[in-house]
Amino acid sequence: MPKILFVASEAHPLIKTGGLGDVVGSLPVALQSLQADVRLLLPAYHDALARAGELKTVARCAIENLSAPVRILEARLPGTELIVWFVDFPPAYDRRGHPYLDAGGRPWPDNAMRYALFADVAVRIALGQANIKWRPDVVHCHDWQTGLVPAWLATEKARPATVFTIHNLAYQGLFPRETFEALGLPAAFWSHEALEFHGQMSFIKGGLVYADRLTTVSPNYAREIQTPEFGCGLDGLLRHRAGRLTGILNGIDDAEWNPAQDRFLAKNYSPRRLQDKLANKLALQREFGLPEQPETPLIGVVGRLVHQKGIDLVLETLPGLMHRPIQIVLLGSGEAGYEEALRVQAARYIRRLAVRIGYDERLAHLIEAGADMFLMPSRFEPCGLNQLYSQRYGTIPIVRRVGGLADTVVDASEKNIKTGKATGIVFEKARGSALLAAVDRALALRRNNLRWNKMMRAGMRQDFSWRHSATEYLRLYRQIMRGKRTSSGKRHVSRKTGK
Ligand code: ADP
Repeated sequence: MPKILFVASEAHPLIKTGGLGDVVGSLPVALQSLQADVRLLLPAYHDALARAGELKTVARCAIENLSAPVRILEARLPGTELIVWFVDFPPAYDRRGHPYLDAGGRPWPDNAMRYALFADVAVRIALGQANIKWRPDVVHCHDWQTGLVPAWLATEKARPATVFTIHNLAYQGLFPRETFEALGLPAAFWSHEALEFHGQMSFIKGGLVYADRLTTVSPNYAREIQTPEFGCGLDGLLRHRAGRLTGILNGIDDAEWNPAQDRFLAKNYSPRRLQDKLANKLALQREFGLPEQPETPLIGVVGRLVHQKGIDLVLETLPGLMHRPIQIVLLGSGEAGYEEALRVQAARYIRRLAVRIGYDERLAHLIEAGADMFLMPSRFEPCGLNQLYSQRYGTIPIVRRVGGLADTVVDASEKNIKTGKATGIVFEKARGSALLAAVDRALALRRNNLRWNKMMRAGMRQDFSWRHSATEYLRLYRQIMRGKRTSSGKRHVSRKTGK
C-alpha cells in the first residue's frame, strides 16, 4: 500500500479559492478508496481550522530561528476518513479569509516566508524529522506554494519520490532576490537551472526542475505548456522535462456535484427526471431578481474574474448578447476593474443581466443546475471544472477550444449530434465575435428540443468521477517508487550549505 503525502495550500471544504481546492479535497479520498495510505498537509489557516472539527496535536517541531515550535494538528477532512495535518504557526497562518490575499485583494507581503515554512515542515515530515512516525513513499506537491518541497528533497540522499502537479502555470510564486537570500536557501539554487527566473526567485521552478515526475491536469494542457503561447516563459524547461511530464485529467467529486442529491438545489433531478431541472431555473431567476421565464434561455457564468477566464470578452460582447432574447447570471470575484465593470453593466441591463460579486458555494451549485447554458470563454484553461459540473447537471457548456476544455467538451457538429457524442458548443478564437457566434449556435440548437435534450443527456452520461484518473496517479506513484529503488536522484546539493 503506497504511502502518499499530499502537500497543498487549499482543500475543499476547508479552504478553497478555485479548482485546486476541489482537486485536493477529492483526489486523496479517491486514492484512499483504491487502498492508498494518504495524508494531506495544509497550512493551519484560521478558517480551515474552524471548519475542521475536532483537532489534536500530534507533533511539535522546533525550527531554527522561529520564536516557537511549529505544531502539527490532526483532523479528518469533513465527511471523509482522510487524515489532514495542519502546519500550525499562528504568526504565519492564523488569518481570516482568503489564503493568499489580504482584505484589499493584495498578496500577503510575507507569502514567500509562509510557504517556505510550510514546505520546510513538509520536508521534515517526508524525512521523518518532525516527530511523526509515518513516512511517505511519495510526496505529491501542488502548485507554486509547494515548489520548494521537491527542491529541498532533491538535496537529500535518502528521500521519498516527488510528484509535482501544475494546476496553473501562470501562478509562479515570483519574488525578488532579497527574498531568496532572506529565506536562507542554498546558494546553488540561485541559477537559471534551479530557482532563478530572469533575476527573480521562482517557487514553481522548484517543482518543475526537481520533482521526479511532473503532472498537469489535462493531456491537452500538458502539450500546450510546452509551447511559447502557453508556457509562461517556462516552455523550454517543460520541453526539457517532457519525458517526465504527463497530463492526467481532473475528476470531480461526484457525490458533491450530483443533481440527484445536491443539497443546494431547489429541486433534485436526474436524467430520468429532467423536467425537475426547471424548478432550479425559476429559483435561480428569483434569486437573481430576473423575470421568472421558463422559456428564456439562461446563461450562467461562475469563476474568478481574471483575464484568464475571458471576462473581458464577455464584457466586450455584452451589447451584442443583450440584443438576443437571453438572460445571464454571473457569480465571481477577482480583479477590481472587472468587478466594477460588471456591476455597471448589470445596472444597465437590469432584469436581463444579473451579477453577484463574491464567493458563494451554494449559488455556484444553483447556477450549474438552473442555467440552460454555461459560458467559459477562457484564454487558457489547465483543466476547468465548471464545464464538467455543467455536463453533470445537464447544462450545455459553451467553451473555447483550449486546455482541458478541449479535452472534455465534444462540439455540437452535425456529425457529433447525429452520433450522440455532442455535449456542448466549442469555439476557436478568443474574440468577441467568436463568442457571439457560439452563443448563436447554442440558441439555434436549443430551438430543437429533441437535439438539445439529446445533448443534455449525453453530458449527464459522462463519467467525470475520479475512478479513472486516481488509478492513473496510483500507477505513476508505483512507477516512481520502483524507479527510485533502482536509480539515484539528481545532482546533489546540500540543503543547508548549498555545496
Ligand atoms: P480555476 O481553478 O481556474 O479557478 P476551475 O474551473 O478549475 O477554475 O475551478 C473553479 C472552482 O471554483 C469551481 O468549483 C467553481 O465552482 C469555484 N468557484 C469559482 N469562483 C467561484 C465563486 N465566485 N463562488 C463560488 N464558487 C466559485
